[in-house]
Amino acid sequence: MQKLTVLGATGSIGISTLAVVEANPEQFSIYALTGHSQVKKLVEQAVKFRPEVIVVGSADLAKEARTLVEQHQLNVEIEFGEQALERVASAEGVDTVVAAIVGAAGMRSCLAAARASKRILLANKEALVMSGQLFIDEVKKYNACLLPVDSEHNAIFQSLPLDYQQGYLDKSIEDYGVTSIILTGSGGPFRETALEDLPFKTPKQACAHPNWSMGQKISVDSASMMNKGLEFIEACYLFGVSPDFIEVLIHPQSVIHSMVRYQDGSVLAQMGQPDMKTPIAHTMAWPKRITSTVEPFDFVKCSGFTFQAPCQERYPNLYLAKEAFRQGQEVTTVLNAANEEHVDRFLKGQIAFTDIAKYNARILEKLSPQKACNLTDILEIDKQARSLAHELLN
Ligand code: NAD
Ligand code: MG
Repeated sequence: MQKLTVLGATGSIGISTLAVVEANPEQFSIYALTGHSQVKKLVEQAVKFRPEVIVVGSADLAKEARTLVEQHQLNVEIEFGEQALERVASAEGVDTVVAAIVGAAGMRSCLAAARASKRILLANKEALVMSGQLFIDEVKKYNACLLPVDSEHNAIFQSLPLDYQQGYLDKSIEDYGVTSIILTGSGGPFRETALEDLPFKTPKQACAHPNWSMGQKISVDSASMMNKGLEFIEACYLFGVSPDFIEVLIHPQSVIHSMVRYQDGSVLAQMGQPDMKTPIAHTMAWPKRITSTVEPFDFVKCSGFTFQAPCQERYPNLYLAKEAFRQGQEVTTVLNAANEEHVDRFLKGQIAFTDIAKYNARILEKLSPQKACNLTDILEIDKQARSLAHELLN
């Protein structure tokens, strides 16, 4: 029986995780569920999954949760705030931490899980993009086990030999005959939109992803392909490769979740329905397999697979991310922070869709961050980038 803490339980990934738990009740139990502001949903989850602890965002929200918990006569501790997230991510007795908070807000709890030598199922890509090698080094130092949930990285991981998978952070992918990684992406809802119409796209249109059902932030990132940019950086850190090692390919059907090329000409891919329950179940059971409840993919019914190269004019954010990685850790921290701020403004209707990339580029141009040697530096750079974004927007 694995005991789980699910950080971001009320989000899209959190809900999918709990569906996999529900399908495999004899293998998993829940220690903690966290939900920031969605108190009602979190308490409903607690009624069903009986965690020992729930964590919300503030003292007021904890009060709200207390009332609901009493109504349900539930025996659960209620905690709040960032330190509580770190505590449940590192608590004794917890085997696995599902890192499914969105954005930089999840970084400290990810690090806490690493330092407590947990098995970390990483969905929160921003945490890795923001802290990069520092996070990987902590995982190695404390002998934690980091497994990629992001469907592309999970596909790449699955397309590599088991011998590589075990302790992969210390291994070189090239020693296994790999010549490149092919990161696939759907191209998002605006793949065929006329370029001149892009500035008028609304948050609702940006969030209507053709294949995946996801949280708002990642949906907007998918539309701008910043998501692929963040994933590009994520892949460089996870698999210890340089940018030249990664090809990005648009595959609108989202059935091939990514691929690995080998020196003998073989290309291995992982395929399936575009449903995050598959990579989540894979990481939950790794190196074994469990049911995920995802329907088998029907090849006969599918209309075919197509591919195209991404175009810089349509997806400037992807190119900003590649360039940021080349410039160094600090610059990816800046880009991640700027993008979070700008996506937030776009979702609030304050800036246009195309402004996200334009303003991200402006921050990269104006801010020359100091070298990041530790977590304090990272948090300082993140703060600088956010305040510059606010300053320029106001
Ligand atoms: P979501 O918006 O649906 O859920 C986010 C979760 O984080 C919620 O539980 C919310 O309560 C919590 N949260 C938000 N702000 C917080 C804060 N300040 N402090 C603490 N908790 C906070 O997002 P999602 O789509 O589930 O994505 C979660 C993460 O997984 C993101 O990093 C995303 O990039 C990644 N991811 C998601 C998908 C997907 O299909 N949804 C796929 C791959 C990777
Ligand atoms: Mg992904």
